[in-house]
Amino acid sequence: MSQVIVDDLSTLVEVLIGDGYRVIGPTRSGSAIQLAELTDAGQLPAGWGVETGPGHYRLRRRTDNAVFAHSAGPQSWKTYLHPSRRKLWSTDRNGTFEPAAEETPRYALLGVRGCDLAAIGKLRDVLGGGSHPDGSFQARYQSLFVVAVNCTEPGEVCFCASMGTGPTAGAGADLTLTEMPDHFLVSAGTAGGRELLARIGHRDATTAETDAATAALDTAAQRMGRAMPEVDLRALLAGSRESSHWADVAERCLTCGNCTMVCPTCFCTTTEDVTDLTGDHAERWQRWSSCFELDFSYVHGGSVRGSGASRYRQWITHKLGTWHDQFGGSGCVGCGRCIAWCPVGIDLTEEAGRLAESGHG
Ligand code: SF4
Ligand code: SF4
Repeated sequence: MSQVIVDDLSTLVEVLIGDGYRVIGPTRSGSAIQLAELTDAGQLPAGWGVETGPGHYRLRRRTDNAVFAHSAGPQSWKTYLHPSRRKLWSTDRNGTFEPAAEETPRYALLGVRGCDLAAIGKLRDVLGGGSHPDGSFQARYQSLFVVAVNCTEPGEVCFCASMGTGPTAGAGADLTLTEMPDHFLVSAGTAGGRELLARIGHRDATTAETDAATAALDTAAQRMGRAMPEVDLRALLAGSRESSHWADVAERCLTCGNCTMVCPTCFCTTTEDVTDLTGDHAERWQRWSSCFELDFSYVHGGSVRGSGASRYRQWITHKLGTWHDQFGGSGCVGCGRCIAWCPVGIDLTEEAGRLAESGHG
């Protein structure tokens, strides 16, 4: 569809709220850009960018008022589609059993970058697909309205271009924006997006405006802070099982699991049963889990992956290798969150590069 110009996002947010959506978007909160519910486009982080690096994330003031000129923050949209904690059921001593009444809000996600749009697609395949789809995820996913953003400001830890997920957002969004200095270039990807766009003020884009946006995206693709090595990562990881490199990573890795918590595609959970102090009431909760937890691989008698080396190897092998076998593509979208939020600055592009250099695979 042709692209149009929208001057600001206030009407878009108003119309989405009027249609019953809870609009989630980036806001400045404390010392990070955090996702939160918006009641007004004025809550978007105008004039704030970020500076990132391995184990490093800082807000920085920009000289303009761009609202989407910041790379990925600590949270991902996973938080809304696959909550970190949710009650599954409860029971009482008298034998009553209650499945948890679950809220399934209609979310409009505003500002989803290409990498994160791809990550939502991966969660859809993993949690919403297969013979036992997760009903909670499906209900949330099916009522989504997605406003994607073509990224013109990649950060130091970004490598979506080398993973084929950005900086241009792929298919799957209802609307896609490109933020330019005084306006947004907008295109609709679905009937719902077209219908919504018809209700907000816009004008046709000129050729000069679309050309400027294309040039900005081309420049962004050249400015990625990092890249994955150009090798067959699936074969590389399959051939690296016995690499001495894992011991080297284990010297640095704290097995804290931060990388899995911030990752927009990590989906693993565990369940916990809790009782009240009287023992009359019990509940089962699901919470995010991580392959870095010792209990994650616990089978009768002990953990299968007892060492940090084996747990790091499991994580990166699944992300870059065996995910292909399970789901037909990589489990990594190149958002860079695991690099920025690793307390010791372990960088999976560098680790993959070292494996490639050592001749494994
Ligand atoms: S592995 Fe790291 S870079 Fe890849 S999607 Fe997960 S957090 Fe992003
Ligand atoms: S790689 Fe970094 S973030 Fe991940 S578990 Fe190890 S120390 Fe924690």
